[in-house]
Amino acid sequence: MAALLPRAKDFGLALPAPPTRPQRPSASTAFRGSFGLRCFALPAVASFLTSLRSQSRRRFSAPRRAVNTDAEYKIDLEGLVSLCKRRGFVFPSGEIYGGYNGFFDYGPLGAELKNNLKRMWWRKMVHCRDDVIGLDSSIVTTPSVHQASGHVDNFSDPMVDCTESKKRFRADQLMWAKVELEDGTSAGYVSMVEDGNVEVALKKAAKKLIKQKKIEGGFKELEIKDMTDATEEEVKLIPSPATGLPGSLTGARAFNLMFETYVGPYSDGASKSYLRPETAQGIFVNFKTVTYVMRQKIPFGIAQIGKAFRNEITPRQFLFRSREFEQMEIEYFIDPEADFKAIQEEWIMEMWNFLKAVGLKESLLDREVHEGEKLAHYARACTDIVFTYPFGTQELLGVAARGEYDLQQHAQASGESLEYQVPGQKRKFVPHVIEPSCGVDRLFLALLCSAYDEDEIDGEKRSLLRFHPCVAPITCAIFPLLKNKPPLVEKAKGLAAMLRSSGFNVLYDEAGTIGKRYRRMDEVGTPFCCTIDFDTLEDDTVTIRRRDDPLKVERKKREDIGAFLMKECQLPEQ
Ligand code: ATP
Repeated sequence: MAALLPRAKDFGLALPAPPTRPQRPSASTAFRGSFGLRCFALPAVASFLTSLRSQSRRRFSAPRRAVNTDAEYKIDLEGLVSLCKRRGFVFPSGEIYGGYNGFFDYGPLGAELKNNLKRMWWRKMVHCRDDVIGLDSSIVTTPSVHQASGHVDNFSDPMVDCTESKKRFRADQLMWAKVELEDGTSAGYVSMVEDGNVEVALKKAAKKLIKQKKIEGGFKELEIKDMTDATEEEVKLIPSPATGLPGSLTGARAFNLMFETYVGPYSDGASKSYLRPETAQGIFVNFKTVTYVMRQKIPFGIAQIGKAFRNEITPRQFLFRSREFEQMEIEYFIDPEADFKAIQEEWIMEMWNFLKAVGLKESLLDREVHEGEKLAHYARACTDIVFTYPFGTQELLGVAARGEYDLQQHAQASGESLEYQVPGQKRKFVPHVIEPSCGVDRLFLALLCSAYDEDEIDGEKRSLLRFHPCVAPITCAIFPLLKNKPPLVEKAKGLAAMLRSSGFNVLYDEAGTIGKRYRRMDEVGTPFCCTIDFDTLEDDTVTIRRRDDPLKVERKKREDIGAFLMKECQLPEQ
């Protein structure tokens, strides 16, 4: 693949448009390669719902949210997918074989952006605090861990099948409504898979239905529900979104989202294990050892960044819901008698400020408090920070007060005491936890959405990405004014080498006019460009041009550029 993928440092000299657009996730390819598929039917939808609501670690159903009207996007999701491919941020996984639904590869610039995001999070949450330490636990571990945590039995989403098209839908995302006429009679049912505009779309479908049936007059306001709320009778009458016809949908069944794997040479029950569905359990099972070896005193936190895997029924909305993704999680252990609400609030603010600092538009952020049945039974409180993507407002991260549930479960199952001994006292307790949990890929997508902009130069529209310097894939581009003047080229290459050795990802570019070179850098979000010109040969100064203030070109000593970039790349303090 090396020949196909340019190195980040060489990137930007040629950006050919892709011959085709990347494939968008489609339900038809959703199960081509799923392995470890394990689903079980429950006799009645109602008992299934009750069991999920009371036991699952996973939230039962995604709330329907109001559309954030502040969000005026200049690009839609399809445009973002295409831009990500064209500019080397994200590619469909295994694209030469047609892609693989729910899996993505980060290209040269995407890898830089993602690594910068993770580095900044680690810096802010671990290095800048004296009460949080890091961990890197294994992806596959003894199945006892996920048995004890409840994932093996209960980490499920409700699923419905269309027996006609063989497509599969998440029951809580398959929306339907009965079309009731003014006189109280039914004209039938309409359905669709949830997206940002379900109300409008279902209304349109209802109008079409009564037109098709040649019914005069209007219909009552639609009462929109999801498939988990459908009775057996209603299930038979709701049309499948795949065929548009009723009669082929099944009732909701639980589908366990964990990927199974086999460890060792035999593929039998005894060797079965799982790819972790979250990084958190690795932290809980290491709690005792970490506390002991690092001599930690409560309150303190353990942070981890790593891959997680979920066999999502319908991966969709690009990076937002994929089957392989990364999480940045902290388990912050506290005294059970501490004011957990105040500590949870501090972590919500810590996360909010981090999101702002790396460049998310605050007007697109909001909070959503889980209450009632949306709150998992073991959680004492949970607040999501939601982000308005072009496809709607969705969970970006969650900050949950999880009580002692996980440590208790592991203590019981392993027989190992996970109590904390208060230093100098007789008091012992199983700590409670506050859990900030953020998906790297959802943050990556939110960052692209926030950074995307368009402007016009000499009547020509162009796109640019306004990344903050602390996360920008390329921090600075270095140009010799002319490529056929060896002293300029030598000085420019020297500056690039110096900055690289100081830890910056810089790009050397000598092709085309300076204007074209600036533009290429704006398109991939490079905040600074340095040009070596004839004055440099006289006084060793270079010009610095800022992407976001292109008319203010400054001159700086060549030797001061490193310190300048260092300052600009700091995560802004809130
Ligand atoms: P959702 O309700 O959207 O499925 P969740 O509540 O199940 O999410 P958590 O189990 O709380 O998610 O996981 C913590 C974080 O991990 C989420 O806030 C999100 O940022 C990220 N995440 C979860 N599932 C996925 C996925 N399939 N793809 C990408 N990121 C994910």
